Amino acid sequence: MFQNNSNTTCTIKSLDALTNKIPKWNLSSLHERNCPICNKEGMPLFHRADKLIIKICSNCNCAYISPSPSESDLITFYTHYEKLHKKTQDRTSGSVVTNPLLDFRNRVIKAHINNPKGAKILDIGFGMCSNLRNLKAMGFEVFGLDPDSEACEMAKKEFGNDSIYSGTLDNSKLEIADFDLITLYDVIEHPLSPMTLMKNALSRLKKDGLLAIFTPNMPDIKSNKLVQFQIDLEHLQYLTPQTIAFIAKEFNLNIIHLECSGFPVIPDIHNNGIKLKKSIIHAAKGFVRNLPFFIRFNRIRHQLFNSIPDNRLGNYNIFAILQKQ
Ligand SMILES: [Zn+2]
Repeated sequence: MFQNNSNTTCTIKSLDALTNKIPKWNLSSLHERNCPICNKEGMPLFHRADKLIIKICSNCNCAYISPSPSESDLITFYTHYEKLHKKTQDRTSGSVVTNPLLDFRNRVIKAHINNPKGAKILDIGFGMCSNLRNLKAMGFEVFGLDPDSEACEMAKKEFGNDSIYSGTLDNSKLEIADFDLITLYDVIEHPLSPMTLMKNALSRLKKDGLLAIFTPNMPDIKSNKLVQFQIDLEHLQYLTPQTIAFIAKEFNLNIIHLECSGFPVIPDIHNNGIKLKKSIIHAAKGFVRNLPFFIRFNRIRHQLFNSIPDNRLGNYNIFAILQKQ
């Protein structure tokens, strides 16, 4: 549909922000880049509110920012990410795990690793530790890696110095290389070189180990619902299920789970009460649908009426589990 031809003229549409958190990139040090997944040249289609351009790659079906901020600008940005950009106030919020299986991702993981005892998990980009807490509550031995030094200091108090590492897979002191599962939740959309991140993560997995990816799904660019491009403006690429398939083929991985579900979380949206209300209603519905009673109810309803359970409506995110061969 989109010709990858630099002679083609196209209109670049400007998008408003649906967030107050707009990164202030150093626009004098931007770098051109090809598609960070397949290295083909994409077509510029959108101007994001942080003044960066979104290009569409028709080869692996993803969207990406180009020109992009420099590596050094990104290192500075992520060193104090939670405090300066996310403006996280209460770092202890969410410390109580009620039931980790309320998160559908954990139910999928449990279906593939049913005995957590002795299974080692690395959560890359753990941020506020909610995934680490859930996986620990499920009985896994958890390790966390994050470039945010302040997030690491807080996490060490809860999980111990031997479980938390600051930096990246390239430069941290983490030496373990036989993880059963590595989770990349809200991570692969951030780095300049997601394929390098994939390669490094896979080098830390044992044979048959699992890599779980959770990332925003690229919106339908023919529609006028482009929320993914209007919030979380630090994202540098937007994947699709086709992109996941491309990545799996590139690294010779088995796709053992792939789904699109969910709705955006827009906590600081401004001047748009209707969308905020919709977002709250969607979140509340999602919570109720994940209650054990409703899961059982939907299962029975499915058996009785042969209908499809609807506890994973929406398509805002991609959740994929890839297995190393
Ligand atoms: Zn591509």
